Amino acid sequence: MASSTPKVTDIFVIGGGINGCGIARDAVGRGLTVELAEMNDLASATSSASTKLFHGGLRYLEYFEVRLVREALIERETLLRAMPHISWPMRFVLPMHREMRFDNDTPTSRLLSFVMPWMKGRRPSWLIRMGLFMYDHLGGRKILPGTRSVDLTTDEAGVPLHDKFSRAFEYSDCWVEDSRLVVLNARDAEARGATINTRTKVVSARRENGLWRVETENTDTSARSVSLARALVNAAGPWVADVIEGVMGQNSSAGVRLVRGSHIVTKRLFDHDRCYFFQGTDGRIIFAIPYQEDFTLIGTTDKEHDDADARPECTDEEAQYLCDFATEYFKRPVTMQDVVWRYSGVRPLYDDGASSATAATRDYVLKIEGETAPVLNVFGGKITTYRKLAEAAMAKLVPYFDQATGDWTAGVAMPGGDFAVSDVDKLIADLQAEYGFLTPAWAKRLVRAYGTEAREILGATKTVADLGQDFGATLSEAEVTWLMSREYALSAEDVVWRRSKLGLRLSPLQISALDDHIAAARQNAPVR
Ligand SMILES: Cc1cc2nc3c(=O)[nH]c(=O)nc-3n(C[C@H](O)[C@H](O)[C@H](O)COP(=O)(O)OP(=O)(O)OC[C@H]3O[C@@H](n4cnc5c(N)ncnc54)[C@H](O)[C@@H]3O)c2cc1C
Repeated sequence: MASSTPKVTDIFVIGGGINGCGIARDAVGRGLTVELAEMNDLASATSSASTKLFHGGLRYLEYFEVRLVREALIERETLLRAMPHISWPMRFVLPMHREMRFDNDTPTSRLLSFVMPWMKGRRPSWLIRMGLFMYDHLGGRKILPGTRSVDLTTDEAGVPLHDKFSRAFEYSDCWVEDSRLVVLNARDAEARGATINTRTKVVSARRENGLWRVETENTDTSARSVSLARALVNAAGPWVADVIEGVMGQNSSAGVRLVRGSHIVTKRLFDHDRCYFFQGTDGRIIFAIPYQEDFTLIGTTDKEHDDADARPECTDEEAQYLCDFATEYFKRPVTMQDVVWRYSGVRPLYDDGASSATAATRDYVLKIEGETAPVLNVFGGKITTYRKLAEAAMAKLVPYFDQATGDWTAGVAMPGGDFAVSDVDKLIADLQAEYGFLTPAWAKRLVRAYGTEAREILGATKTVADLGQDFGATLSEAEVTWLMSREYALSAEDVVWRRSKLGLRLSPLQISALDDHIAAARQNAPVR
């Protein structure tokens, strides 16, 4: 327990997922002092387990979630411009077929069965075209191309699909490296003056003398310390209700609905760079996305999840469901033998009383309480709307702080993202020219992860040997040192599953050698 009186910060943020880190960055940039505590690694929960799309969410239009879709669509290009290294435009091919069905729960499906009863359960192609027309026009696109029709009998996108699929629509959304997005927000917040503590669990938060007294525990050492703050932000994601009740000792007036979503990663299933949007006969949809050059990402499922502390896992049943769903489209059956990795995350959705997990709102809800020492509880949200969510959070908190300045994050580049969206290929070519030992794939990986900061990692190196130990799959000691000293990495898992996805290419033996290296490096020179 700290003996001296701790200094008072303006805002204490619980949770180092995308929402906590986004709020911390926004708040510190407004001139407020900020401290953030994350009980594990940054993005260790939901924010590394998403489908990794900056998207409007085409299917949410069927639920008439126009506000959410519009905000997300507009936001895609704002985010893409601020981080053209970790985010990029993608085209989605949506094959059409008469067997495709609606989720009977959606307001659109109910409306359609009322006015056109003979269409009951069907999702006709004109309706999809109408949805895509809205999708194209709600979001004020400048960079992303609009929808077009695709003849699957002649287009290469038709090659891996069953012959019965002859027509498709193709539309735009964006990819984002979700866990890197979180780390870059944390780094930028720290660079602007915030304190970011990982492996730090908030065990209690109580109002005392007009301030929040927040007690934390270091999860490595069990050491406890106390912070004082003028306002508290509960961005604990799936644990939002546990924090309200267990940590703050309050009754939660709003509910959170935990919905597990799982993905499988297979060996590459097709040879082009577009994604597929598949509609199922059960009314659900899944994506099949080119992933990490040699793989395909398929997801997601929607399953109720009872307990935030129960580690989400993609069950065999879910993996088989995704294989079977994809096999309805791909000529070559997708089997469990194709699966090389699976992951699962829990959506912390606001409980709007919807009947099914699929139908529950994906919009965010912010609840603020307290005339002095306010607490802001964050429910729901999407990766895509994290910056807007942070602005909305600050709109609620700013009245408590006279010195706080206005919105600023739109248009401000993330670390390494200070270049034009169209310049990424040039950046890769320049890096390879400058560091002749890099292969094209290596240079691309570095630029896609670090953008203009890739040069800082490589520094004055002239040969591969100058980068130090080689951990395999182009992971060098120089990169690991950067990740430890600049990106809060404290274990091999942090490095190979969240700062990168090199876990797909490294063997268990190589990962264990990396863990030994990191443990030794931490012993010799504690990084944080
Ligand atoms: C399967 C799936 C697919 C998705 N796909 C997309 C997509 O493609 N696009 C999109 O925009 N959105 C998507 N989402 C939604 C998006 O991932 C989430 O809305 C978002 O990641 C939630 O972020 P968060 O910060 O609220 O929660 P989290 O990322 O879960 O962060 C909360 C953090 O709080 C920490 N914490 C909890 N309690 C404490 C405590 N007491 N002390 C300290 N720390 C604590 C946790 O360790 C955790 O790291 C998807 C979600 C899922 C599950």
